[in-house]
Amino acid sequence: MSDAFEQALAHARQTEALAQISGRLGWDQQTVMPRGANAQRSEEMAALEAVLHARRTDQRYGEWLDKAAPSDPAHRAMLREMRRDWARNTKVPARLAAELARVTPLSQTAWEEARLAGDVAAFLPWLKQMLGLRREEGHAIADGGDPYDALMQDYEPGTDSDDIAAMFARMRPRLVALREAVLGADTPAPLTGHFAQDGQLRLSRRLAEHMGYDFTRGRIDLAVHPFSSGSGDDVRITTRVAVDDPFNCLYSTLHEVGHAAYEQGVDAAYALTPIGRGVSMGVHESQSRIYENQLGRSRAFTAWLYQAMGQEFGPLSVADADAFYAAVNRVTKGYIRTEADEVQYNLHIMLRFDLERALVRGQLQADDLEEAWNTRFAQDFGYPVDRPADGVLQDVHWAVGLFGYFPTYALGNVYAGCLFAAMQADLPQLQGQLEAGDSSAATGWLRARLQRFGALREPVETITHACGTAPSEEPLLAYLEQKFAALYDL
Ligand code: ZN
Repeated sequence: MSDAFEQALAHARQTEALAQISGRLGWDQQTVMPRGANAQRSEEMAALEAVLHARRTDQRYGEWLDKAAPSDPAHRAMLREMRRDWARNTKVPARLAAELARVTPLSQTAWEEARLAGDVAAFLPWLKQMLGLRREEGHAIADGGDPYDALMQDYEPGTDSDDIAAMFARMRPRLVALREAVLGADTPAPLTGHFAQDGQLRLSRRLAEHMGYDFTRGRIDLAVHPFSSGSGDDVRITTRVAVDDPFNCLYSTLHEVGHAAYEQGVDAAYALTPIGRGVSMGVHESQSRIYENQLGRSRAFTAWLYQAMGQEFGPLSVADADAFYAAVNRVTKGYIRTEADEVQYNLHIMLRFDLERALVRGQLQADDLEEAWNTRFAQDFGYPVDRPADGVLQDVHWAVGLFGYFPTYALGNVYAGCLFAAMQADLPQLQGQLEAGDSSAATGWLRARLQRFGALREPVETITHACGTAPSEEPLLAYLEQKFAALYDL
């Protein structure tokens, strides 16, 4: 190990420790912080952010990164991550970074109000401002390249939006056809009833334990929006409860447990280093999705969940485990991405991807966004958007400048499809184990094949290494077509 590398890594580790503290302040703000502390908290966060920015763009750090020449593969991966972050952070002018930090929370508040009022026009000035700032940032990072592709690298390093567009073009007709066939068939009965908060939270903890979440290095709390945060030995998740819709709580928990399992599963030797975390948003989402969907919404796992729910809540409104499985996987018409089932979810993403790419590239104007959204929604879903809160105002992402983030959700689904196909080939007993309430083979497979490596390999290499083949959308599409053909008698 060269001296310059050791110095750079020591610097990066300390920066990461401070970043973890910043993340924990964010967790605190959304869970237990007293409401009156808002203004003070934003000053605390801004002070910490200034320290982080100074450390990330420190000239000495840049010099160490220039001189570093490690030979160990893990150290070379750490250097790759440090150099990428350094290049990105030093290309963005300080004025622009400060302006983004100042405008983003204001824009988020404006979006919340506009969404409640159904007032797209009130949100447009903020959208234009955020879009302008992020386009400027994209151009600054891109060095003459495509600004949208440059922004995507923040979430999914190594992606090319033309490849994503081509993949989505292959997926879209098959998903639209599956969606039409499923909606043309009889809809199974939903699970109805009253499910007390205590029982839902008890069952959530059981589910999390069942899936290997380590409560000695994590905890579950309530928050408005479920999320996971932290890395290594402190990875926390949140969930939410609706007393008439227990699947909301249970499947949000499973989703966040997937994210948390990835962070908890990274090799302890990488803790707080640049590879001691999930490698990208898409690979992260593959973990949350495989826990939530391919495992959690399987016939085998729902058989276990059916009896666990019966123990907790008494007799259920559905007749048996088959009807329960159908209720879990019910496909209905809707507008909201976060509530979408496995069949329709990716169609929501494709719509957003095309629109945001056109916005960032200047091919679509913010003033025309609502009309473009409504036209495309009617095309893909077959019915019109009923109100802005169910349409162009439904997601927070654009309000806070997260252009380029949406495709990582669909990539996560695609990667989960690849991983599940490889897992099933390796674990012929998987269905029987899940049915008996044993998820350890599945979660152990994910840990051994993917989670423990953190960001050692680039995202696509991470999936390729875990599966033994390069990622493709085919396993996901085949899985969806088989699963829903059987469920809906297609
Ligand atoms: Zn997620």
